[in-house]
Amino acid sequence: MTTRYRVEYALKTHRRDQLIEWIKGLLAVPFVLYSQPTGVFETNGFSIAQTSGEAHRRYAEIMRDIEVMVDDHITHQSDATRVPSKLKLLVPTIGTFFTRLPLEAAFKFQDRKRYISSRRFVSPSFNDVRLVLNSAQLMAVTTHGTLRLATFDGDVTLYDDGESLLPSSPVVPRILDLMRKNVKVGIVTAAGYTTADRYYARLHGLLDAVAGSPQLAPAQRQNLVIMGGEANYLFEFSASSPHLLAPVPRERWLTAEMAAWSDAAIASLLDVAEAALRDCIKNLNLPAVLMRKDRAVGVIPGDPSVRIPRESLEETVLVVQKILELSVGGRDYDGSQVVPFCAFNGGRDVFVDIGDKSWGVAVCQKWFGGGAEGGDADRIRPEQTLHVGDQFLSAGSNDFKARSVSTTAWIASPAETVELLDELADFMGKKLS
Ligand SMILES: [Mg+2]
Repeated sequence: MTTRYRVEYALKTHRRDQLIEWIKGLLAVPFVLYSQPTGVFETNGFSIAQTSGEAHRRYAEIMRDIEVMVDDHITHQSDATRVPSKLKLLVPTIGTFFTRLPLEAAFKFQDRKRYISSRRFVSPSFNDVRLVLNSAQLMAVTTHGTLRLATFDGDVTLYDDGESLLPSSPVVPRILDLMRKNVKVGIVTAAGYTTADRYYARLHGLLDAVAGSPQLAPAQRQNLVIMGGEANYLFEFSASSPHLLAPVPRERWLTAEMAAWSDAAIASLLDVAEAALRDCIKNLNLPAVLMRKDRAVGVIPGDPSVRIPRESLEETVLVVQKILELSVGGRDYDGSQVVPFCAFNGGRDVFVDIGDKSWGVAVCQKWFGGGAEGGDADRIRPEQTLHVGDQFLSAGSNDFKARSVSTTAWIASPAETVELLDELADFMGKKLS
């Protein structure tokens, strides 16, 4: 387990989640006004049950008020006149909501688990709010609609950074349970391997379990795909293949938009990225070498035992991202066609991939929606999709990109993913009963 510490950025406002910070600020007001820290040493008049009951009521009221504002925002989203909602004015970075968010119910649920209202010294935190939002999203995709597709990031979401999904991982039976319930599963990872053996090495715990599980019907085993390199390599489960995965040729899964990215535009974007990465190796004296692939370019440690400092990795990501944003790289000569890219810190390396996770998740929506022959119109819809990941904030936050095509849950560790999947199973069960 590596120690996590925060890196300070020059452009720090980009590294905050405005919605969560804003909700945290609203909850801080009743905390400051009504919490009774002196209750710890003064017993006169205060009962812990009374004060926590009062805090609970006030927090829940605030969450209900925000819930109403989200509903109003959703109404504005569908309004062609595009007048901004009140929520948009208060939280300018707010995105598109694909579902309502039952925030009051989600708060009550998390308060029972985390005793937020019982705290007198520690106000409702960023993590409290993040988990309330996750629960609200799970409630929404299970009660207002039907979840059809769950996509998962790899590192930190399914296993610790750089590790593998082992047969003993508690996440394995929970993913199998989703597949048994006919929810499709996509592992949408930045790991950009081109061959099945490398993915098998990282995911064998899950793949072996899918192959051997008596709970799954043969057709249900096909409910799993791996999307590698953000949106570049698709593998389907294949019981007869040596590593239980079969590569799917690009022409069978590219969406219409992706098929329009020309080879020349992709190459020119990677050229610009390569030059920027070479500059970083020189200017930061990185103990690294350049690696160019057909759909990606990156820097990796020259010696596998050497770790590039995290600050250098982050600096490299930000430099390359800025240069690509400002350059004409990725633009076709007619100027209309922009190839999307994703620059990210992989923990030990930095890569620039063609596309990003929004495209990776969209491919899963199309693949499972209509199969290879299905048109884009048969795609699984955003409100029927949940993407689970850990990168919603840090440099090159690649899971953040999935927000444009699906609902999301933001977890901080594989243990949180397990808890989230238990919550999900619970909510799905409640809907059935
Ligand atoms: Mg991750």
